[in-house]
Amino acid sequence: MGIIEKMRLDGKKIFVTGGARGIGKSVATAFAEAGADIAIVDVDIEEARKTAQELKDQHGISTMAIQTDVTNPEQVNAMIDQVVAGFGRLDVAFCNAGICMNIPAEEMTYEQWKKVIDINLTGVFLTAQAAGKIMIQQGGGSIINTASMSAHIVNVPQPQCSYNASKAGVIQLTKSLAIEWAGKNVRVNSISPGYIGTELTLNSPSLKPLIEKWNEMAPLGRMGRPEELQSICVYLAGDTSTFTTGSDFLVDGAFTCF
Ligand code: NDP
Repeated sequence: MGIIEKMRLDGKKIFVTGGARGIGKSVATAFAEAGADIAIVDVDIEEARKTAQELKDQHGISTMAIQTDVTNPEQVNAMIDQVVAGFGRLDVAFCNAGICMNIPAEEMTYEQWKKVIDINLTGVFLTAQAAGKIMIQQGGGSIINTASMSAHIVNVPQPQCSYNASKAGVIQLTKSLAIEWAGKNVRVNSISPGYIGTELTLNSPSLKPLIEKWNEMAPLGRMGRPEELQSICVYLAGDTSTFTTGSDFLVDGAFTCF
């Protein structure tokens, strides 16, 4: 079998949090193209249903849409139960849901701080933990967490200390889980995207005015597109990455190189 064929995901069962739109939707589309069955998991159930239907119609795979707030352990566990009941097993978890708040540190309330940490870091832990339990029982699986280049650098000029701290936490969490589960055949990796054109950036009133500035700072002179994250995730999800665990993959157009 050739390498491209080996990279296919036919029959794999995958869930994607924050899968209704943006990076999650784009990566879910790539998983679907590669032959996997996909559960779209999101707080926005209307959008999740639309995305799940689109993937089913376009790629002839099985899909489901599940409303879940990743900060709620009961909802996360119920979501995993639904995926396993519907698909029969779980091969890949893409723990991707996240938000950003741009607030100066000295003005940030406890609630604002907590919301970002709860979704971006605790949400990834709860989702990866629930997925890991099933994968350990099954004898293996692959977990991909979305960190950010903000785990590696402090973005400027916007103030986003809670986001940066949450994403640095995602990378260290990823490495910790990779070590704990290495002997159980459960691989855990993260991706660290640079600025990517999605709702989170393009339609955020606080971030949108900064795009020109970011593009001036970017070695490639532009933001990334969600589809530019697809191939790394297909690789991490599949059976050609069996020696890859505990790694973080920067996909940032060299933004963090200087
Ligand atoms: P989007 O805002 O476009 O999509 C995020 C999705 O996650 C939305 O559908 C959102 O629903 C959902 N979501 C938010 N909170 C929760 C929750 N508590 N439980 C379940 N789902 C939730 O973001 P992106 O696609 O841009 O970002 C995806 C990931 O990539 C995030 O972790 C982000 O931090 C990370 N990232 C993004 C970068 C970028 O430049 N865009 C760069 C680096 C990392 P709703 O809209 O209803 O809130």
